[in-house]
Amino acid sequence: LRATAGRRVSELVRDVPDFPKAGVTYKDITPLIAHGDSLRLVVDALAAPYQDRGVDHVIGLEARGFIFGTGVALALGAGFVPIRKKGKLPPRTVSLDYELEYGSATIELREDSLRPGDRVLVIDDILATGGTARAAAELVESQGAQIVGLDVVLELRDLGGRGELPGRSVGALVSV
Ligand code: AMP
Repeated sequence: LRATAGRRVSELVRDVPDFPKAGVTYKDITPLIAHGDSLRLVVDALAAPYQDRGVDHVIGLEARGFIFGTGVALALGAGFVPIRKKGKLPPRTVSLDYELEYGSATIELREDSLRPGDRVLVIDDILATGGTARAAAELVESQGAQIVGLDVVLELRDLGGRGELPGRSVGALVSV
């Protein structure tokens, strides 16, 4: 299932050169999710390794992680919890600042959304430098929750995201 989904991802995710700025090749997942059978395939494949892993909550990272993460939560019978950019979630929140290639960013989680010992799966569309996923993992762990895995649709391997996530199980439907 993961291999079949991976081939579909390779076929339908579109490379957009120089977006949103020169030198960046943007991976556009909208053609992939526009097809019902592809959306279903990708969600089922992301969820498959975690079916019997006792996942309490799926965390989706704003914004495209919400799309896949909600589907995976439904597939696993788990709840969905958003991690958002600063200022989007109502109080009270816990937050974490992290470095980007240029500048910094802050992500937030509702303070009471996770309990110590909760088993959490983190889902996003793309793993690039790993900065976002790492910050998300640290925020989840700061609540005493346990990361069962981090899984993405597409990993940009040369950017070394996995190296930012030592000791956690990292999955990707496609690694390019
Ligand atoms: P990073 O923190 O560098 O791993 O970046 C991960 C976040 O940025 C993900 O939430 C992606 O949605 C987004 N992202 C990074 N690189 C790309 C890209 N080439 N195309 C589309 N989205 C990207």
